[in-house]
Amino acid sequence: MSSGSLAPAGNSPRCCALRVAVAGSRPAAQLPGWSDAAQVRRVRAVLRGMPPLVRPHEVDALSARLAAVARGEAFVLQGGDCAETFAGNTEAHLRGNLGLLTAMAAELGRRTGLPVVRLARMAGQFAKPRSAIVDADGLPVYRGDMINGFAADPAVRAPDPERMLRAYGASSAAIDFLHTAGGGPVFTAHEALVLDYERALLRRGPNAWRHPYSGSAHFLWIGERTRDLDGAHIAFAELVANPVGVKLGPRTTPEEAVEYVRRLDPHRVPGRLTLICRMGARHVRDVLPPIVEKVSASGHEVVWQCDPMHGNTITAATGHKTRYVEQVMNELAGYLDVHKGLGTFPGGVHLEMTGDDVTECVGGDVAEPDLGTRYETACDPRLNSHQARSLVAGITL
Ligand code: PEP
Ligand code: MN
Repeated sequence: MSSGSLAPAGNSPRCCALRVAVAGSRPAAQLPGWSDAAQVRRVRAVLRGMPPLVRPHEVDALSARLAAVARGEAFVLQGGDCAETFAGNTEAHLRGNLGLLTAMAAELGRRTGLPVVRLARMAGQFAKPRSAIVDADGLPVYRGDMINGFAADPAVRAPDPERMLRAYGASSAAIDFLHTAGGGPVFTAHEALVLDYERALLRRGPNAWRHPYSGSAHFLWIGERTRDLDGAHIAFAELVANPVGVKLGPRTTPEEAVEYVRRLDPHRVPGRLTLICRMGARHVRDVLPPIVEKVSASGHEVVWQCDPMHGNTITAATGHKTRYVEQVMNELAGYLDVHKGLGTFPGGVHLEMTGDDVTECVGGDVAEPDLGTRYETACDPRLNSHQARSLVAGITL
C-alpha cells in the first residue's frame, strides 16, 4: 500500500499550505505559553531548514506494515518512556529501551506466529500534556524537556523555545542510534503536541501535490487531552501523510469514535488510523464494545491498540504516581476479550516501559513501599523489564 492513496485528486501544494494555515487558526489545547513570540518564529525558521528526521519512504514502509496489522496479519508493539529527557538520551538508556522492545517483540512473534512491528516511543517523546497548570509548589508545571525543565525553579520552568532545537538534536542522535543498533526497522513515534515544532518539520513528499509528511517521526498520535474534534491537533493529524493515532479515554462515545475515523481516514486506507484505547481496567469491558462495533460497521479498517497504562494511574500511599501491574493486565485481558467476542483483531499494545531497573509501578518484584527506591520517571510511571515482559505472557490471539 502506498500512503499516496491518502490524497484526493487535485490536492495542490497551495492546498496544503492552505491546510496548514487553517490548522493554525483552530484553538490548540495545551499550548506551552512561550513568552517571546519573535524567538519562537526564529526557532521555527531554523527547524524548517533542518533535514527531516524520518524520510517519506520509511513512513510509507510503516504505513504498509500497519495496513497488515489492520488486516490481522501482523501485530504492533509500541513502547518506551512516558517522557524522554535530554539527560536521559544516553546510549545506555536508548539501548535498554530498544533491547526491551526488541525482546518483547520477539516473544510476541513466537506467541502469535505473526510479524511484530516495533514502534518506539523514542527519538521525539519530549513534550507532555498536563492536567494542571501549576504544580504543588505553585510553579508552572513541567511540560517535557522540549518546553521547560523539571527542576523546581521558576527560571527552569519558564517555557524556552530553544528547547525545541535541543529536542530536534536529541531526536536526531536517538534515530541514528536506532538505525545502527535496531537490527532491522524500528519506527519512531511520539505525541504530536507542540504544533510549533511539528508544523516546522512538515516536508513535501516525493509527489508535491500530496499531503505533507511529518519529518519528526514515522507515527504521531493525538493525546486524550488534545483530541477535540474542532481543535488544532486533530486538524494537524488530518493534514499529514503519516499514519496517525488517537487516544480514546473512557468517556469516548461510539459516535465520536466514528467521527475520528471519518475525519482521519477519509480515503479508507487500512491502517492509516490507529485507535489507542485507554479506558481503564474498570471501564474497558463496558465502554469498548459499542465503539468497536460502530467503527467496524463503518467499514474503515483501523488498527486497534490497547494502552493499558493511562486509564490505571493512581497515587500510592507513599505519594508516588503509580500503576498496579495487576490492573494493567486486567485492562489488557478485557481488551483482548472484547475483540475476541466481536471477532475483531486486537492489533497491538502501547506501553510505558523501560529497560532501566526502575521501581515505578507496583507488581512482581516491586511492592508499594519500594516505589521510592528507583523512581526515576520525569512523568508517568513505567513498567520495568520484568513487569513489561510478564504482560506478554497474557497475550493470546
Ligand atoms: C501519554 O501517552 O503519555 C499520555 C499522556 O497519554 P494520554 O493522552 O492517553 O493521557
Ligand atoms: Mn504517559
